[in-house]
Amino acid sequence: MLDKVVIANRGEIALRILRACRELGIRSVAVHSSADRDLKHVRLADESVCIGGPLSADSYLNIPAIISAAEVTDSLAIHPGYGFLSENADFAERVEQSGFVFVGPSAETIQLMGDKVSAIETMKEVGVPCVPGSDGPLGDDIEENKGLARAIGYPVIIKAAAGGGGRGMRVVRSETNLPHAISMTRSEAENSFGSGVLYMEKYLDDPRHIEVQVLADQHGNAIHLGERDCSMQRRHQKVVEESPAPGIDPDKRRYIGERCAKACRELGYRGAGTFEFLYQDGEFFFIEMNTRIQVEHPVTEAVTGVDLVKEQLRIASGDELTYKQSDIGFSGHALECRLNAEDPRRFVPSPGKITMYHAPGGPGVRVDSHVYDGYVVPPHYDSMIGKLITWGDDRHSAMQRMRMALSELVVEGIDTNAMMHLDILSDSAFQLGGTNIHYLEKKLGLS
Ligand code: ADP
Repeated sequence: MLDKVVIANRGEIALRILRACRELGIRSVAVHSSADRDLKHVRLADESVCIGGPLSADSYLNIPAIISAAEVTDSLAIHPGYGFLSENADFAERVEQSGFVFVGPSAETIQLMGDKVSAIETMKEVGVPCVPGSDGPLGDDIEENKGLARAIGYPVIIKAAAGGGGRGMRVVRSETNLPHAISMTRSEAENSFGSGVLYMEKYLDDPRHIEVQVLADQHGNAIHLGERDCSMQRRHQKVVEESPAPGIDPDKRRYIGERCAKACRELGYRGAGTFEFLYQDGEFFFIEMNTRIQVEHPVTEAVTGVDLVKEQLRIASGDELTYKQSDIGFSGHALECRLNAEDPRRFVPSPGKITMYHAPGGPGVRVDSHVYDGYVVPPHYDSMIGKLITWGDDRHSAMQRMRMALSELVVEGIDTNAMMHLDILSDSAFQLGGTNIHYLEKKLGLS
């Protein structure tokens, strides 16, 4: 087993990784920015190293500083968490070239999946169903692109091959708007992602976002851990997630899960990963693969009893998967609400000092959060301050527990989106289950 791991992240996921390390008897090194000295995991880690200033570019995205911290602390591996450098193939490669283990897939796999055009091509080759689209990057020929869009059928969506975080995409409903939409998206993509490569997909009007969790080791074993429904989104960002996805036919669920596990075996995938799909009219359409642990992983942990972060660390140590597919059972239902420090009306971040904090508890309630009484939420990073996860025998009971958890939660001094979550829980369409990816924005009056 790896005996010392650098946690190259911050906030709740850094604490989550630290806890998994502790359980496995792995020593941990927290690397942090100068704004994050008071983070809970920094205080709890066996060692900590300040790697730069508050700006992410100076610290959490500072590859040489992170690798130096691994060197000076005699660490064996680096866990990237999510966001920051977690899907940066260059980082993975430099980590391995410097003699450390990268907790994740190989740099080649990250590269292949990080470019959405090559990811889609690869998935088609291994038989994973994809959204009908341009089958490759868009060229500059307007007439050719018009022809492609006509063949796919309007509406279409123009997407950046290097896009992420819900940015770099534009819906086009008619041919007149196509040339402008392509050139706008291309220049935005060049500015934001350093690559103007675009592709085109059928825009699905009524889809749900359903994703499949996988685990694969370097010995050729791969399993799936069922699916999560992440359709409650605002600006293409997930807000509430659950597992299982309500109302999915068990045969379809098994089929898509097995398809993903098989794809991992064929690709030589290693580590935890997620196949993201849009689901419409009973069919799954692949959109992208995330080659890292995800924010919403706890709902899968709640229904399967598998600790995904511990499995990541075991896989990185070279172990075989602890579980065979037949060991994976699914029990009950789990929900996750992402708690953000934000103004509930304008959705802008609300950093500052938390003057009072009480976490909820009780049966079936899990709180993954790094905040505490007196903690100051810095303005430099993502506004998520934690996640509430509830489990119940069925969806109704998970929802009841979430309602209780949200009403027990106290966060004073900053604004949060807790009320919005209570609103979602009392929404009759959400209660029925199966709302699409546009539902929340419509409900909030944003579209
Ligand atoms: P990102 O990498 O930025 O998260 P994705 O490709 O995963 O981008 O898409 C994010 C979200 O955008 C999806 O969850 C969905 O809400 C919307 N979306 C993406 N592609 C399509 C499509 N073809 N039709 C409809 N909505 C889409």
